[in-house]
Amino acid sequence: MLRNGLYIIATPIGNLKDISPRAAEILSEADIIACEDTRVSKKLFSLLGIPLNKKFIKYEDHTEAAQAQNLIDSINEGAAIALISDAGSPLISDPGYKLVRKCREQDVYVTAVPGACAVITALQLSGLPTNRFMFAGFIPNKDKARADLFNELKNIDTTLVFYETAPRLLKTLEQVALIFAGREISVARELTKMYEEVVGGDIAKVSEYFTNNEPRGEFVLMVAPPPAVEHTAVDIRPLLQKRLQETSLKTAVKEICTQYGLNKNEVYALALELKDE
Ligand code: SAM
Repeated sequence: MLRNGLYIIATPIGNLKDISPRAAEILSEADIIACEDTRVSKKLFSLLGIPLNKKFIKYEDHTEAAQAQNLIDSINEGAAIALISDAGSPLISDPGYKLVRKCREQDVYVTAVPGACAVITALQLSGLPTNRFMFAGFIPNKDKARADLFNELKNIDTTLVFYETAPRLLKTLEQVALIFAGREISVARELTKMYEEVVGGDIAKVSEYFTNNEPRGEFVLMVAPPPAVEHTAVDIRPLLQKRLQETSLKTAVKEICTQYGLNKNEVYALALELKDE
């Protein structure tokens, strides 16, 4: 029997087998299922063979704050509540954060059962750097808001990850070409499903592909980090110049390479150039 509390349960993003035994067990045993769309969730339960003998409560983003307390009251009366999304990991571009926050404030037991998440799956398949990434949620629909977001993020030194919908993809790629010019991108669609596809490369190539192959299904768009060499050659010049006056060339190069994670040969070449000036 489950202890009372909130259980955040990841469900599949396509392939029904991507549910963990622990997730299935908790969904079977929970008293209440808090979900985005009760019909979608009941269908999922049926497909997974999980009994429907429990209460399904619709839990929406805009009513989240008001509803959260009702759910917490039920937990305090003894209920085990499982929070699920229509698909994937709850709270990731899905409702739940305010509910978790309230649970934390009120010392209510919360735990999570991790599982499928489109951000992570897309990154894993992209071939783009994964050591640092930033997930920026859904891309706004309006041109100005979209451009503002892209401009805000374009100098951040991480892989950028966005959720996008099929009808908006080509328009978005037009703006990506303007604001992230020269960067590699990757578009992942229908992850874990029959038509899973990852298209990567330069922006023109990816745009051409989706112009010729009408975008269908669910999408994740990723943009590679800005190229290191371009901005380092400019940014480190004054720093290097200063250090060259204060210490040996070798030490200056070593310091700057360590500090900024740069290629030694490139910084060394720049240092020699500066020394000759
Ligand atoms: N919480 C979910 C997760 O863990 O990935 C995401 C929910 S968000 C409302 C839905 C968006 O996630 C879709 O519009 C799409 O951008 C992305 N997405 C979800 N499933 C996907 C899949 N199988 N393939 C590609 N993108 C997917």
